[in-house]
Amino acid sequence: MNLRDHKDVVILGGGIAGCACSDLLTKSGYSVTIAEKGRGVGGRMSTRRMSGARIDHGAQFLTMRDERTRGLFNELMTAGIMEKWYDQNSVSKEIPEGIRYMGIGGMSSIPKFLSRGSSLETKFFVNKVKWDGVWYVEEAGEQKRILTADELVITFPPPQILELQARSSFIQDQNISDQLGRVHYTKTLAVLCLLEKPTRLDAPGILTHPNADIDWIADNQIKDISEKPSVIIHSSHEYAEKYWDAEDEVRIPSLTEVTQDLLGAKIQEFSCHRWGFAKPLVTFGENHFSDDQTKMTLAGDGFGGERIENAMCSGLDAAKSIINRR
Ligand SMILES: Cc1cc2nc3c(=O)[nH]c(=O)nc-3n(C[C@H](O)[C@H](O)[C@H](O)COP(=O)(O)OP(=O)(O)OC[C@H]3O[C@@H](n4cnc5c(N)ncnc54)[C@H](O)[C@@H]3O)c2cc1C
Repeated sequence: MNLRDHKDVVILGGGIAGCACSDLLTKSGYSVTIAEKGRGVGGRMSTRRMSGARIDHGAQFLTMRDERTRGLFNELMTAGIMEKWYDQNSVSKEIPEGIRYMGIGGMSSIPKFLSRGSSLETKFFVNKVKWDGVWYVEEAGEQKRILTADELVITFPPPQILELQARSSFIQDQNISDQLGRVHYTKTLAVLCLLEKPTRLDAPGILTHPNADIDWIADNQIKDISEKPSVIIHSSHEYAEKYWDAEDEVRIPSLTEVTQDLLGAKIQEFSCHRWGFAKPLVTFGENHFSDDQTKMTLAGDGFGGERIENAMCSGLDAAKSIINRR
């Protein structure tokens, strides 16, 4: 057993919801630990390296239209963490403010910046949680790190919250479990590709829905996060459902062959990542849930709704519920 310092708050999940929550709490004087199963924070905003290329393989851009994100917007822009990528209004006039923002150097720079005030426990797969006046969080595997805190925040997609519930029965109210059980997500196959030469795309370097199997292709060199020519391909949900368990030789060629033709560049190397929780189709019904008695809060896009901005607002509102309890 490997017991860490007791904290005011432990946040499970280092995606944007967890990191935005941590940012507001640490600025308000709370001591916070984030426990994340990945190698770093980011979650679905991760940026990956592949043979010298840098590729945003999950979320591609964010909007910040909600008044609640105003303070963070100014801070991220001033600190040189985020910049404008392109304006969707030049393509379609149907949305109120079409500017798409990106993390400088990759999307993960945003959650990294927001988590800077907290302690990070990475490669920490949360196996069990227990409430006994304070919260205990136990890691899976040999090392068995144990975190303790007065407040617990969980920001996993609800299907993964329910897996944790099956391992540790920490939610007593059946209505909450039922509400969590109704949340479900789309899937996406992401293909990270290294190219033999730059593509023939113009800025901002994107192609949307070139056919029914592909939702999105983006050139990470034109996006200016990768020195090496590289692209990300996101399949449609239907394609991902159909080929989820297929071998790469079966599921990849029909995505890469059309991409090579469209981009005028050959793919030298690829890697496929399966996003099992891409975007929520049905959400919990409240932007977050917070229990005053056990001091447990649930947040993330399964609560706030599809898109980074909504996950961020869910994390910020979760932090406000904790601060209001003080
Ligand atoms: C392919 C794809 C493209 C997208 N494109 C866009 C886009 O362009 N713009 C946009 O606004 N949104 C986009 N989205 C949606 C957006 O990425 C999400 O809404 C948002 O990032 C969700 O943040 P979150 O913090 O709620 O969840 P997550 O980012 O999923 O964070 C949850 C974290 O919990 C961790 N975790 C789970 N279980 C455990 C465990 N047992 N122990 C420890 N850690 C655990 C995970 O590793 C993860 O880091 C896209 C999503 C995908 C998948």
